[in-house]
Amino acid sequence: MVGGQADVKLVSNAMANATRRKIMAMLVEKERTRAEVEQAAGASMLDYHLQMLQQAGLADIKEEQIVLTEFGKNFMETKAEKPAEARKDLSGTMPLKITEVRQLLPCIADVSKFRIIARLEPNLGGALKLLEPLFPRGRYSERIGALIIQKGNVLITLYSTGNVTMTMISSEAEARAVLESLKETINKAIASGITPVARERVMVDHAEIYKYLPRTDCKICGEQSCYAFAIRLVAGETALEKCTPLLEPRFATSLETLRALREYL
Ligand code: SF4
Repeated sequence: MVGGQADVKLVSNAMANATRRKIMAMLVEKERTRAEVEQAAGASMLDYHLQMLQQAGLADIKEEQIVLTEFGKNFMETKAEKPAEARKDLSGTMPLKITEVRQLLPCIADVSKFRIIARLEPNLGGALKLLEPLFPRGRYSERIGALIIQKGNVLITLYSTGNVTMTMISSEAEARAVLESLKETINKAIASGITPVARERVMVDHAEIYKYLPRTDCKICGEQSCYAFAIRLVAGETALEKCTPLLEPRFATSLETLRALREYL
């Protein structure tokens, strides 16, 4: 029975990986053979991914078929976008305005850079997901209800509530310029409708992950070094939550960036 603290963690770890989320999405439609899952999700680490889903009580293997458990079905139902929140087009969406830009802590990965909090109004709510194709390096995350956009080193997270966070920004002026360009792109889409464009596949490698880890090699995560942890995280063999030093306030910006980068894994 899933429900305890440890089980919640197992579920969260299981769903923290893109391949496992893909497998779960396939299983929502119908039960699958191993060959079908392998064809869609890849053979690499398939046993490991299935084991993670089984341990979390989300999926099971029955007579060669991979199926969702009752808990897995309920879990996926709660994750499904509610019809009332879903939007098919941008009609009725008002153009955005920048209403707030605030500079916060320096980024731990580069103390010459800052973290910025801003606000765009009105909030886009369920229409935010429709904007994903506008940005070559954009990914809508159902889990956090936000559109994550990468522009060079700058990571912008635009939440459906209208809040925006930006990391690795040199100055408030740079933040305003990036926000202006974001606002312009979105407002153009609001005015004329969205034409989806082919998107570049976002690649996040272990070197990029490593940059944001505490880099103390403390081994709390069970790995020999932060570098080894980064490699295993990218391979889907460990979970970000295992690096508990990231919960220290001084790593707040790094943790936020790592959570965003994890969406691309
Ligand atoms: S717990 Fe975090 S800081 Fe410590 S070695 Fe692992 S990745 Fe590095």
